[in-house]
Amino acid sequence: MNQQLLRQIPKVDELLKEPKLEALLAEMSEKIVTRAVRQGLEELRRNVLEGKIEQLPVREAICSRIAAIAYREASPSLQRVINGTGIILHTNLGRACLSDKAAKAAASVAGSYSTLEYNLATGGRGLRYTHVEDLLCRLTGAESALVVNNNAAAVLLTLSALTAGGQVVVSRGELVEIGGSFRVPDIMEACGAVLKEVGTTNKTHLRDYDRAICAETKALMKVHTSNYRIVGFTETPALADMVELGHSRGMLVIEDLGSGCLIDLNQFGIHDEPTVQDSLRAGVDVVSISGDKLLGGPQAGIILGKKKYIDVLKKHPLTRAMRVDKMTLAALEATLRSYEAEKAFEEIPTIAMLAVSQERLQAKAEALCAGLVSAGCNAQVVATEGQVGGGSVPTKMLKSFAVALEPKTGSVDEMEEKLRLGMPPIIGRINHDRYLLDVRTLKETDFEEIIAAAAEAGA
Ligand SMILES: *Cc1c(COP(=O)(O)O)cnc(C)c1O
Repeated sequence: MNQQLLRQIPKVDELLKEPKLEALLAEMSEKIVTRAVRQGLEELRRNVLEGKIEQLPVREAICSRIAAIAYREASPSLQRVINGTGIILHTNLGRACLSDKAAKAAASVAGSYSTLEYNLATGGRGLRYTHVEDLLCRLTGAESALVVNNNAAAVLLTLSALTAGGQVVVSRGELVEIGGSFRVPDIMEACGAVLKEVGTTNKTHLRDYDRAICAETKALMKVHTSNYRIVGFTETPALADMVELGHSRGMLVIEDLGSGCLIDLNQFGIHDEPTVQDSLRAGVDVVSISGDKLLGGPQAGIILGKKKYIDVLKKHPLTRAMRVDKMTLAALEATLRSYEAEKAFEEIPTIAMLAVSQERLQAKAEALCAGLVSAGCNAQVVATEGQVGGGSVPTKMLKSFAVALEPKTGSVDEMEEKLRLGMPPIIGRINHDRYLLDVRTLKETDFEEIIAAAAEAGA
């Protein structure tokens, strides 16, 4: 039975003469089409051998499947998706969305020459870092600033340049691991510094830091527990006290702040996310943050602090290896200008999504739901909760609204898969046999595509 079916599987050359595939050959290279034919036939053979099919599909159907494989192969791997998870800084989905202005600024320098390292006033050489340095200093009160590829690089550079060969004191409650492979003890080792742990998981006192300081100590370091919180019977000294102690003993005080918030989040009910300005005001010598977390800009590591230390970093050989490109700098400059113009709430998607009111979210969910219902879908508005994400504000659940979809036939898992594999992919989540799309992270301009895809997926 199997053998007979296997013999009936068409040959590659035969299939390439089918009208459907000939049409495809006019659109894309023979290489891609031939590879898709091979993959399609291999899939067919597997299905026969595993007894999944008892007769071969008609030629037309085989060609359609091959065309689908070819289109998938020819489409970009890195592509836009619609984020219906409600998680604002979804690390797997690329963290912060750039503002329109930032995206335009990046695109504008991407396809043309720019003033990246050119000084228009003198007609001579300029420095790539000047485009954002003054802006960063004005916004944060720092004396000096430097931008590198990401915050992991920023911490690596800071510790390598300022503490190598010495000891760095860190609280046991702050030995953070950030998703992937950023672990404070490992980074320290990679920088040639010796980690001196002090205190306990839940409590570290100022006297613990004081006692740990010895001849080899170069710095006291504070690490923001971005993606976790220790609650209950806890204690950590105030940053200003740590700075006073460090400076009185001739130590540097460094902070890895992670999320890098420039705006006071208390107004959104988030009470445990420090701002960069707070750290600098407390007198920290060097503080580093991510560009694409709460700041809402491109992936970058921003180092801020006292000029004499930032100058050392600027001259360090690692800085060249970590340098940012023109698109990043253009997007970062545009993002920072939105803060300076006091337009962050309107222009920066991350901040706008955090700040949006319950009424606005509900109205948005109702609008999407109405569109879905009039397309014949089984949809309803439900109250839900989401996270900020990106290893930020871990204990805060943000109240939101979602549209719940129920499949008319088939399972909710099948529906989720169809939407995920669609064009563009739509990423939602399943909760109690319903498929949820949280409107906090959806754009109104995505609604049309969502409605068409949901109807197609059988909602
Ligand atoms: C996110 C984070 C990092 C890593 O930053 P990237 O920009 O992702 O490289 C380092 N330290 C802390 C405390 C963080 O929150």
